[in-house]
Amino acid sequence: MKKSIFLVAITLIFNLTLSSFNLSAQESFKIVRGKSDTVYTPVHYIVGVAPGGSQIFVNDLPSKQYKTGSFGSELRLVPGDNSVRVRVITNGNENIENFVVYYKLLVPVTVPADTVPYTGRVVVTREGAYMNYGAGQDRLGGAKINYLAEGIRMELLDSAQALYKVRLSENSYAFIPKSLVNHEPAGTKPPFSLTSSWSVSNAGNTDIVRVALEKRLPYTFFKELEPNRIVIDIHGAACNTNWITQYLNLKMVDYVDYDQIAPDVFRVYIYLKDEYCWGYKVDYSGTSLVVTVKHTPAPAYKGTLAGLTIGVDAGHGGPKSHGAVSPSGVREKDLNLAMTYMLRAELEKRGAKVVLSRPDDNDVAMSDRIKIFANANVDMMVSVHCNAGGNPLRPMGTSTYYKHIEYRELAKTVLERLTELDVNNFGLIGNFNFSLNSPTYWPNILVETMFMSSLPDEELISDPLFQRMMMNKTVKGLEDYMKKVKSSLKKGAKR
Ligand SMILES: [Zn+2]
Repeated sequence: MKKSIFLVAITLIFNLTLSSFNLSAQESFKIVRGKSDTVYTPVHYIVGVAPGGSQIFVNDLPSKQYKTGSFGSELRLVPGDNSVRVRVITNGNENIENFVVYYKLLVPVTVPADTVPYTGRVVVTREGAYMNYGAGQDRLGGAKINYLAEGIRMELLDSAQALYKVRLSENSYAFIPKSLVNHEPAGTKPPFSLTSSWSVSNAGNTDIVRVALEKRLPYTFFKELEPNRIVIDIHGAACNTNWITQYLNLKMVDYVDYDQIAPDVFRVYIYLKDEYCWGYKVDYSGTSLVVTVKHTPAPAYKGTLAGLTIGVDAGHGGPKSHGAVSPSGVREKDLNLAMTYMLRAELEKRGAKVVLSRPDDNDVAMSDRIKIFANANVDMMVSVHCNAGGNPLRPMGTSTYYKHIEYRELAKTVLERLTELDVNNFGLIGNFNFSLNSPTYWPNILVETMFMSSLPDEELISDPLFQRMMMNKTVKGLEDYMKKVKSSLKKGAKR
């Protein structure tokens, strides 16, 4: 009891000393902030100091007084004159101060027209746009750089059949399908932007890197293995970043950094903690570039397939897309479908959830297959096909394919198991431009089981028993991969 009385006394002294030190003998209270004549923002703060224990009202609303004697209120101003009334009651004495704050709405400055009008042409990306390195064509299309978000403007340089050559930055260009861009009105200039603040945060199952820009600019990106990082070049951007907020609860992103690699190319580095990449994507939200990096899925820590969601794709399908047809008339689409059923059964036995891109004999567009896997938020994807070409009398064998270097290990691990069967090793194929190998947002591989066109291969792959053996080996490969993932996590990445 004594103690609490003592505390009250101390507090009183504290209040009296602090609340009065800022007031002269003549002053009943003082406004220290907010009596500005003209302001340019609608949120306005009134801050003042009054003797301890006063009752304070700003525009008739109570204002909180702190132990120091300070008080403060937030006002929302309307354009024009705003009357402010501060009323302070101390020991029954009322004191009032009235003043006016003028909120001036800022009208955007109109820039006078350039003396030299811009005469170039500019195109803007549509949904699903992507860029190629060159104007080259291939069975599955030219080599892709990456997909681009909608609404990105680029200078049009040239035309090459179905492609436009567009400028990314002073010294780099790309090719983009004509059908995936719109023309901007004459006089539209290609964009340039300064970079602004960044943030790196944990959004639950992903880490998110956000780079604020003034405009949507074209970007190119890739993953490196050593050092373990994602690299994104923003074309037409110069650094004005003086602030990078980094939260400490990130799970996959270790840290971020940047480099101005050319006067108009700003390079973003995202260093990762875990050795195995589970996917990332680059997109825009407004004019902020947003990189979403997936965490290692929780089931992966067990080192098994249990709990993972796995996309399984049967190549071709429907009345028009039979795929390869063997000399005896076996259709690839039928074998692919039969094998994906086998693959699904084996994966489900191991506790994985399986999502099929085509559960029956239907043709599903490549873009729709990607959407199915994206909507199911798959952890990885395997596409099953049969190959064709080459010498019909020779055993041609089995092969696996990837596009992005971060998924090479997955393709390699599965191939190592497939070639345990007595078949020819046709190879591990990288940078393959198959649509379902193009997403970066989940690990993905293509398994070209055997060649329909080779008589010895045809004999093997037409046999359901052999099909089952191939799918069992595929599952073994996926299991091996999960073991590698687990041991890499055990090695204790920086967490
Ligand atoms: Zn095929």
